[in-house]
Amino acid sequence: MTRTVTLGNLKIGSKYPVRIKGMLKTPYQDIKGLIAEAKSLEKEGVEALRIAVREETDAKIAKVLKKEIKVPIVADIHFHYKIALAAIGNGFDGIRLNPLNIRKADEVRQVAKEAKMRKIPIRVGVNSGGFKKDFSSPRIFARQMVNSVGRYLRILEKEKFFDIMVSLKGSDAASTIIANELFSKEFDYPLHLGITATGSFLNGIVKSSIGLGGLLSKGIGNVIRVSLTAPSFWEIRVAKYILQALNLRKYGPEIVSCPTCSRCEVKLIDIVEKFNKELENSGLSAPIRIALMGCVVNGPGEAYQADIGAAFGKKKAVIFRKGKILRQSDENNIIKDLLEEARRIWI
Ligand code: SF4
Repeated sequence: MTRTVTLGNLKIGSKYPVRIKGMLKTPYQDIKGLIAEAKSLEKEGVEALRIAVREETDAKIAKVLKKEIKVPIVADIHFHYKIALAAIGNGFDGIRLNPLNIRKADEVRQVAKEAKMRKIPIRVGVNSGGFKKDFSSPRIFARQMVNSVGRYLRILEKEKFFDIMVSLKGSDAASTIIANELFSKEFDYPLHLGITATGSFLNGIVKSSIGLGGLLSKGIGNVIRVSLTAPSFWEIRVAKYILQALNLRKYGPEIVSCPTCSRCEVKLIDIVEKFNKELENSGLSAPIRIALMGCVVNGPGEAYQADIGAAFGKKKAVIFRKGKILRQSDENNIIKDLLEEARRIWI
């Protein structure tokens, strides 16, 4: 069990669902773009948004964003505690401090006092990028991250400040998993999970799924932030897929499809791709499983376990619902027919 922390209108901790956090990527010069990105991520399902606050004057963005979006916003602060004070003063719902570059106890205490007065939480977040020490094994590095955060927590706790979240991010899944496991055995602060600097798009998805998914499957982690070298909406989408794959949250319909093999006599890869696009615009929001299977070997079985599904034969398809055949279709009409049946039942 972890403590509960309140970030704006959001409760975070083990009593609550795992939350999705995102980060804005638009440069500060483009305020309209920043607002549009924030709105689109909110629509995508993000529950808290972080933005880099590079200098004190940047902190004014809080007022602009708060007029446009409802989700809480968090200022990402590095190097100078006065930027943190400016962020708090301008109305951010939370701040992230990096113990590796805002280190002086007296400065940390000033930030904690101000945050306490305004009732906002602080995330203490370390990333592998800030360390110049021993990376010889994931375990040694993980222990360094936990020790570094632990020293910082003692400064905050001495100020009787406990509205704390913590993140320990390596650029690989192994050190991230070990660090978060170690931390969760020693502390009860909510954990924000993420892997930093994940690499190319596909590599980033794999690392995030293994690292975040591995921890979440053990009950560790209260907020996730997927980091990808890609447009920010992908980070929210992948986070939703991770939570849905673990049955931790439900975000609308899920497609179950086979990988195809030499038995398959239709272009299933194309069909699934097109079906997925149509599904996104279909208005179907029920958390149902829809199966699309290449042949009758596993098709009827998967379709039976799903809420609705189709199995293909030679150019033909049969639509099932819980073992019963609803109708016949074919390769050209299956997308339309399957959506029609799903809509008829769930809308
Ligand atoms: S369902 Fe049929 S086509 Fe798909 S992988 Fe299995 S055997 Fe192959």
